[in-house]
Amino acid sequence: MRYSVGIDMGGTWIRAAVGTEEGTVLKKVTVPVDPLADNTSIINQLESLILEVSCESLGEINGIGIAAAGKLDLKTSTIVFSPHTSIRSLPLGTLGERLKKPVTLLNDGVAAALAEWKLGAGKGHDNIVYVGIGTGIGGGVVVDGHLVLGKEGNAHEMGHMIIDAGGAIECECGGRGHWEAYTSGSGLPRLSRLLAQSFVGNTPFLQKSLRGKVEAREVFEYAKNGDNFALCVVREATRLNAIAIANLVNLYDPSLISVGGGVAVKNQEFVVSPLQPYVERFSFNSPPKIVPSPLGEDAPLLGSIISTFGL
Ligand SMILES: [Zn+2]
Repeated sequence: MRYSVGIDMGGTWIRAAVGTEEGTVLKKVTVPVDPLADNTSIINQLESLILEVSCESLGEINGIGIAAAGKLDLKTSTIVFSPHTSIRSLPLGTLGERLKKPVTLLNDGVAAALAEWKLGAGKGHDNIVYVGIGTGIGGGVVVDGHLVLGKEGNAHEMGHMIIDAGGAIECECGGRGHWEAYTSGSGLPRLSRLLAQSFVGNTPFLQKSLRGKVEAREVFEYAKNGDNFALCVVREATRLNAIAIANLVNLYDPSLISVGGGVAVKNQEFVVSPLQPYVERFSFNSPPKIVPSPLGEDAPLLGSIISTFGL
């Protein structure tokens, strides 16, 4: 059996694991992202995580796979820019040189799509789209049996698709009207604040939204309790998610869309379940089946492990 180390560098958590080619995870460690860390301390942290999960027996490891949120340059194995962290021009090739192991870098959404296609809901499909709704929004696409990467590995920065031409909300990347600025974990508080200004009525969640910053999880907690304003935010988020997903359906003609990422995985009944009829209404192409990712929040991590055995 062959083993590799995988690392998922998300906006909130870094997950590291050792696992097999078939996607069985043997040991996993999760640590929070330090939003102020510099490049040297990030490389040192990654090195110690790799040594920890591989139990110091790196000799038996096939390679190191890294799934990273942000803009990449695969030719130089560099994370150029990551909007939810302090990472700027992080050269991951140095990690491979230090540990004398090949490093395979993928966008975290692309890695998750690879895992979904090989191990998850996409098994047996030649055309799938994976959508990850977490701290930000990312994804990956398999077209005609090929994982699409793009010229630098940034083929599916779907979170930065413009879904609001008016651009009412600014994205963390500096653009306006981008999908993730509205319905991701970092976007939902901003969407709540925007909608609070014009909501007719009075509810506890409206009061909280008007008083200051709310957290994404609170939108769903209040919605579960029947708060009309929280339900209004959830409905608008669903409509915006469906517009973006319908665009993806028209672009790639997939037979399956799987939706993962922390926000979707933890709140499937509000984020994933209502999508199908909306997407069917908005898409030109025949609609695919839309399912929650069975791999949960581990999809990018699993993808990073299996990426080391070939794409
Ligand atoms: Zn953006």
